[in-house]
Amino acid sequence: MHLTEPVYRNPYWPTWPLVQITQSCTHNSCKFCTMYRDVPFRMQPMEWLEEDLRELQAIAPDAKTIQLLSANPLALSFDRLMPRLQLIRKYLPGLQHMYAATRVDDIKNKTVEQLRALRDIGVDEISLGVESGDDWTLKRINKGYTSQDILEQCHKLDEAGIRYWMTFLNGVAGREHSHDHAVHSAEVFNQCHPMLVGTGGLTLFPGTPLLEEAERGEFTPLTEKEMLEELRTFVEHLACDCKFITHHTIAANLSGPDFLKRKPYILSTLDDIIQHGDMDALETIRTNKRTL
Ligand code: SF4
Repeated sequence: MHLTEPVYRNPYWPTWPLVQITQSCTHNSCKFCTMYRDVPFRMQPMEWLEEDLRELQAIAPDAKTIQLLSANPLALSFDRLMPRLQLIRKYLPGLQHMYAATRVDDIKNKTVEQLRALRDIGVDEISLGVESGDDWTLKRINKGYTSQDILEQCHKLDEAGIRYWMTFLNGVAGREHSHDHAVHSAEVFNQCHPMLVGTGGLTLFPGTPLLEEAERGEFTPLTEKEMLEELRTFVEHLACDCKFITHHTIAANLSGPDFLKRKPYILSTLDDIIQHGDMDALETIRTNKRTL
């Protein structure tokens, strides 16, 4: 298989088989991310894709799902993307779902009709690394789109019948904008129809511009307690009828379906951890993290 390091696969989807149709990330400049920093974006050569598909056909001819790599394969124009998806279907005709992570702005250059065609061929569930719905924060972390873009593109996905995940990056606005980040993100998410909302907590990894800014005193990271308080504010304002997952460093399992039904439990659990949790232990877990 022609897989370019680092190979990131969404752990909540079947993690195998997977096939790379693009390398790296078109944006590659979010201030908290170094995942693909030294890897330039490029399309996977068709010959490589076909070789990989022959391999997969030999070992997984009845595959029902596949993850499309890398960071944002839907960045390809519809005319470039569709032949690649058709090729995948030719070799794996039993596929029911082709999953992909992607950026909000990758949807911009596709019409609703084109999105419907992508859904029909199997791309019916995608993950959007939204991170925030607050415009100040989106600009601050150099995310490359606005809250209006999020709303417009998610509404196109709704219309096309493609299910999508939205992620909230807890802590990424720093202390001064923490409240706005949480409230405005929930407000934007509430105007969309994500099947799942996921939250992760910011870790400042070496080499990230955000860590350098923190070291210069230009960015004030949240303490573990402040992270939990921000997460609580986000949850309090979130009103999406969706599945909810969090990979915050808290030990309590707050993930599950039916967010609205479980919201009181999630809030009371967060309150309890905020009051009685061992913040030093949480900080140790975060310090030991090596990837997002
Ligand atoms: S967070 Fe996602 S979009 Fe941003 S640079 Fe990293 S891989 Fe690319």
